[in-house]
Order: sequence, then structure tokens, then C-alpha cells
Amino acid sequence: MAHRGVRPHKRGVSLSVAEPDLSPLDAAREILRRTFGHAEFRGLQADVIAEVLAGKSALAVLPTGGGKSLCYQIPALVRPGLGLVVSPLIALMTDQVAALVQSGVAAARLDSNIDLSERTEIWRRIERGELDLLYVSPEGLMQPYMLDRLARTPLSIIAIDEAHCVSQWGHDFRPEYRMLGRLAELFPAVPRLAVTATADAKTREDIRAELRLEGAAEYVASFARPELILSAERKRGNAAKRVVELVTARPGRSGVVYAGSRDKTESLAEALRGAGVPALAYHAGLEKGLRAKRLEDFLEADAAVMVATIAFGMGVDKPDVRFVIHADPPAAIEAYWQEVGRAGRDGEPAEGITLYGAADMAWALRRIGERDVDDGVKQVQGKKVRQLYAMLDGTTCRAAAVRRYFGEEGVEPCGQCDLCLGAVETVDMTVAAQKALSTAHRLGGRFGRGRLVDHLLGKTKDVSDWEAGLSTWGVGQELSATQWRDLTEQLLFEGLLKEDPNDGRPLVGLGEGEAVRAVFRGERRIGMRKPPEGAEARAGRSPRKGGAREAIAVSEADRPLFEALRAWRAAAAKAQHVPPYVIFHDRTLAEIAQVRPASRAALGRLNGVGEAKLAHYGAAVLEVVGGFIG
Ligand code: ADP
Ligand code: ZN
Repeated sequence: MAHRGVRPHKRGVSLSVAEPDLSPLDAAREILRRTFGHAEFRGLQADVIAEVLAGKSALAVLPTGGGKSLCYQIPALVRPGLGLVVSPLIALMTDQVAALVQSGVAAARLDSNIDLSERTEIWRRIERGELDLLYVSPEGLMQPYMLDRLARTPLSIIAIDEAHCVSQWGHDFRPEYRMLGRLAELFPAVPRLAVTATADAKTREDIRAELRLEGAAEYVASFARPELILSAERKRGNAAKRVVELVTARPGRSGVVYAGSRDKTESLAEALRGAGVPALAYHAGLEKGLRAKRLEDFLEADAAVMVATIAFGMGVDKPDVRFVIHADPPAAIEAYWQEVGRAGRDGEPAEGITLYGAADMAWALRRIGERDVDDGVKQVQGKKVRQLYAMLDGTTCRAAAVRRYFGEEGVEPCGQCDLCLGAVETVDMTVAAQKALSTAHRLGGRFGRGRLVDHLLGKTKDVSDWEAGLSTWGVGQELSATQWRDLTEQLLFEGLLKEDPNDGRPLVGLGEGEAVRAVFRGERRIGMRKPPEGAEARAGRSPRKGGAREAIAVSEADRPLFEALRAWRAAAAKAQHVPPYVIFHDRTLAEIAQVRPASRAALGRLNGVGEAKLAHYGAAVLEVVGGFIG
């Protein structure tokens, strides 16, 4: 604490609270209240912060929206020195820095977009001890020049955000993260905190080893996201049309649609705009300025739909995203949870809807096969793909399946996903499966799915004598073409059939020999999901009956004030060129509309109203409220 006295300007608002006799954790709680306007720590926040305040390194795995950023921001404010935050994406840094500055925290970012004069100014502030938090990219941080200057700077904490990026077992591997292991020897006295929203046991092990966190305490929160309402459906027919249907059934809400290719983001966005939805495409192929502009438009909008590749996401912390739709399935359960997790960050109900098919699975497996990595890595990644599809095409609670995947025990069904609500009925299809497998065998892997189904139904066009002479020809009259297609899909998911991509005209052949034989012997039964009655209509409906939990709860009486506050916020955000939620979240505005504070003190007691925001916006908010009192 020695140099605190010589830096009287440091952290303007919060310095005054750091009374000498407060314990570090009490000081942290004061900052939580006064700077960030939150009443209490949430979940594991207090434990993680206490560990860092004791000068120790730690690994924290908290679900998206769990409040990871405060775990390093607050120690950076309590401990003397500059807090470094390593973050993989500029968008993430920009957003966090903007939010911190709104809360009166001295924060800045150094990245390739910062010009020389700004850079010089940032270093000047660091040298004067005026800066509390500096956001940097991993490659930026590890430049010799940077390390050299930082070696002469007292540091409070080094936070490594999105730490799972260091693991090649994960889905987001970033080689530049590997360099961060050196921080252990370069800054042995500085506590390092690795945080992530997604890491199974193996990835956590990897993070520890790579980042040299061997002795560090590990905090793993529950992966439960009770606000997320999950569903998934097999692709049928025109998938783009289905996406438009799903989105237009959710008007006036913000959402993200993930698509598998750049072209597809463009065409889907266009289809959505054609249906009157304000949709934007986003992918890595866009010119940088345009990409930034679209991101900004999305963040600043009250209701907009972003159609994006996975290039969009990490660090996109728009709290009021009400749905995430995967037009194409994600890469693994980690990616699924992270991508779906971008909905409902404000804790209000939100939906995650995934469209998937056996062809997607085959494609994912093939891509892994072609990758230039060790066989061991390929095996792990292939397994992850299968686990994802087992969850998507499964028959029991999706949320529970995800949580078990992350190692949670004693998990209860969520009670609100499509599988919990519609409890998929399964029908025994072993005999039909035997017929389909024999057909694939007899046709010798030379035909596609359509031909397989036609053969079973005895409907092959211009059938040749040899085919009509096979014992399987026309043996499948008991099922419809759709049912045979579903069963074929199921057998592909189970690995009993496999598809050879054959340059876009896939051929169906028999899958794993021993498993196939077990089906023929009747030792392995095939249960097929029976789509519940009216599944089509149901999937498009709004998530909750009565809509009570559909959005932030604002009563009819409070609605006009709430809307007036939103209008004021939109103008204030526009004037400063920041997203509205960095000023106040919807939830805070709803609370203001309900409580109708008449004084600054009363306003300051509300959740999300810290001292800096009170100073900046208190008068304006009270004026808006004043128009509705009396
Ligand atoms: P993530 O873990 O996804 O990075 P953030 O740190 O962005 O989550 O926090 C998610 C949201 O929760 C933010 O809006 C933040 O203001 C809010 N939040 C964090 N901690 C608390 C708390 N202790 N009490 C109330 N809200 C909190
Ligand atoms: Zn469920």
C-alpha cells in the first residue's frame, strides 16, 4: 500500500472509501457498492476476490453473466498498482473499458487501433499511477518493449480473460495465449487470475499447466443458467425459411443467429430483412470498419438481429439478447454453452434454439479428420462432436446434459427445455432399423439417402432389374417417406450408418461393424424419437405462457415512466456514442420506474447506480422521474 499516498488522483470515487481500517474484502464490498452500484457479491465472486486480495493466483470458471469481470476489476481497484487484463478480442476490451469509464474507473486499452498520441498519453497516466486497469491483447502484452515498461510498473493483478483459449483441447484455441505462461516468471509477485466461462476438467488442467497456475485455487461455479430456455430441432426442408419463421415469431427482441458460413450469414440476413426484421450480417470477411459499424449498430439497438459466423461473439456482452438461434449447429458443447449463453445476460428469460442434422455432424467429423493436428487431439475433438449431437438429438433435459458434461453432479432437469416439457416419446424401431441397414448393405454404399428411402418403399424411379430383385425392395411399406428419413438420420447419429460426403452428393453406407451386427442380432434396440404432436407449431411459440417472465417485468402503471427513461437513455447514449446499457441496464430503469426515487440518495440506493453514474446522470434521471410524480 506504500505508494497509495503519492497518487492522490487515483480512482477518484473509490479512493475515499479505502479507509485504512477496512479489511481488504470490506474495501472490495465498498467498491462493489459505491463504484458499481451492486448490493452484494454474487456466487463465487467474494471467494475469488478474497483469494486475489490475499496476493494469491487463482482459476475461476463462472458461467456467462456470472460476473467474472468484477473478479479482477475490484482487486485492481483495491490493491495498489496497475491491473492488467489480457483479453483476446478488441470488441471485448472496448466494451468493458467503456463500461468502466462510465462507472468512474480509470481504465484504458492498448491495442493495434490506438494511435501513437493516445498511446503516449496512456503510458504517461501509467507512469503517474493514475490508471487502474489496462486491457491488452496477449500478443501486445508479450512484446519485449511492453514487458520492459511493465517491469518498472507496480502491478496489482494480471487477469487472463477467456483463459480456455490456451487449451488446444478446447474449441477456441489461440496459439498466442501459450506465451502467457511466461508471466509466471516475469511477474512472480503479482497474483494472476485466469477466468473463463467454459472449461471441462481436461481444459482446466490444461489452463493450469500452460499458465503455470500449479498451486492456484480453483473456483468452479455451477453451469446452471436458469434463465435459458433451450430447444433443438432436426433440420427439415428449407432451413432458411425455418429461421425466418423462428425470428419473426419473436418480434421486437434482440437476437443472434449463428450460421456456418459467411455466405449464409449474408443470405439469411437478407431473407430476414425481406420479412421486415432489422437484421445485419457479421463475419470475418467484412471490411474492418464495416464490421465495427455493424457491431456498434447491434449493440446500440433496442431490438436488432445479428446473423453471424462464430467470428462474432466472444466479448459481445449485450445484456438484452433474448434469443440465440443456431441455423447451423456449434462445434462442441463448450461452444454451444458459450454461444447460447450470450442470450439472457441480464438474467431475464431468453431462448437458445438449435437446428441440426446428421449431415452437419458428418461434416464436422470430416473437418476434424482433415486438420493438421495430432491424432490424440483429433480423437478428443471427434468425441466432443459426438457428445454435442448426443445432447442435441437426445431425449432427456438439455440443460442437465450440458451441466453433467461440465462435470456437475446431482443435476436436476431444468423443467423448461423442449425435452423436459415435451418429454420425447420413443418408439421401438429395431425391426425397421434392420431393414434400413440391410438396404444400405445391399445397395453397397453407392447411393444417397433419397434412394435408400425410395428402395424401402419400392418407389425407385426407373428401377433396374437387379435392384427390384433385391430382398429389401419395397419391404418398408409400414413407414412413410418422412419416417424413413428420420430413421436414417437417427442411424447416422448413432454411427450405424455413415455418410461419405462424395463432394456434396453424400452416399450412405454401413457404419461400425460390431454395432451393426448387434442390431441385426436384436441385442441392440433402436428407439426413435417420435416428434410430439404439433411439434412445428410449438417450436415457434413464445417461450412462456402468459408472458410473465418474457421480458423485464414492468407493470402497466410504470410502463410510461420506464419508456420515458429508455428514451432519455437512448439520447444520452447516442450523445456519447456508447451502447445504452453501459449507462444503465433495463433492469435498473425498471427499478427506477417502480421506486420513483425523489432524491439523489434514494436513487443511489438502487441496484446498478454507483457514485459516478449518480453524479453524471442523477439530475437528469430525477428530472424524468419528476415529470411522473404528483
Ligand atoms: P461475465 O461473467 O459474463 O463476464 P459480467 O462480468 O459481464 O459477466 O457481468 C454480467 C452482469 O452481471 C453485468 O451486467 C454486471 O454488472 C452484473 N453483475 C456482476 N456482479 C454483480 C453483482 N454482484 N450484483 C449484481 N449484478 C452484478
Ligand atoms: Zn430441461
